[in-house]
Amino acid sequence: MSEATAGISNESESSVDLKVRRKPEEITRRGFFTAGNLLGTITGIAAVSLASLGQSKRAYAQRPPGALLEKKFISRCIKCGQCIRACPYDSIIMAEPGSGVAPGTPYIVSRKVPCYMCPDIPCVVACPSGALDRQLTDINESSMGLAVLTDRETCIALKGFRCEVCYNVCPLMGKALKLEYWVNTRTAKHAIFEPVVHSDACTGCGKCEHACILDKPAIKVLNIATAKGELGKHYRIGWERERL
Ligand code: SF4
Ligand code: SF4
Ligand code: SF4
Repeated sequence: MSEATAGISNESESSVDLKVRRKPEEITRRGFFTAGNLLGTITGIAAVSLASLGQSKRAYAQRPPGALLEKKFISRCIKCGQCIRACPYDSIIMAEPGSGVAPGTPYIVSRKVPCYMCPDIPCVVACPSGALDRQLTDINESSMGLAVLTDRETCIALKGFRCEVCYNVCPLMGKALKLEYWVNTRTAKHAIFEPVVHSDACTGCGKCEHACILDKPAIKVLNIATAKGELGKHYRIGWERERL
């Protein structure tokens, strides 16, 4: 799977394989403050703050399928717009100055137009630079991000209504997005059907975010490194080991 990640990557030139592209980014607060100390002047710090503000306008740019990790993607992309022209759904747009995304680079705003996951992945085929990796031949293996139910308080399914719109539009329904049900404790006789995303299958296409019926979506595609936690080596999940 390929992962578009905003800001940084820790991959080497030769490590652009599907597994490495899933590794979390390595920006640390420590790194930021060290850079700030080096500047040493109020002016310098102000400049850094402004730069940071510019960056944070859009913390995560959802890149087209097959995109290399962000740093590598930015250096490879020649801003030719071929992927944009190749997309039959106009899912990909070119970043404009001030958008918070590197100007001229292609990205997707799922809430407007998600990726429709073309089986022949014409955007990747059209890319002449390798910024969209042609090793990606199965769109179901793409990794543009990870959908997250970011607002459980507002999602009407979790209030006890039947919604499931996001579930119904998911191209990997039943794998990437499943419905899990449990007792509605408010009524004690109805069920709540919760949409649950599974990161091993979600491609980050954004169809769920696009289709969410709320004025602002309760489900959103995020950077995988932001969305995923990490268990830690000291935890042992006994029942999972037993299954191996
Ligand atoms: S897979 Fe199809 S819909 Fe998705 S970005 Fe590429 S060309 Fe557009
Ligand atoms: S982003 Fe949403 S619609 Fe697309 S695969 Fe993931 S859960 Fe399904
Ligand atoms: S479409 Fe939106 S409101 Fe409906 S179940 Fe999905 S996240 Fe919740």
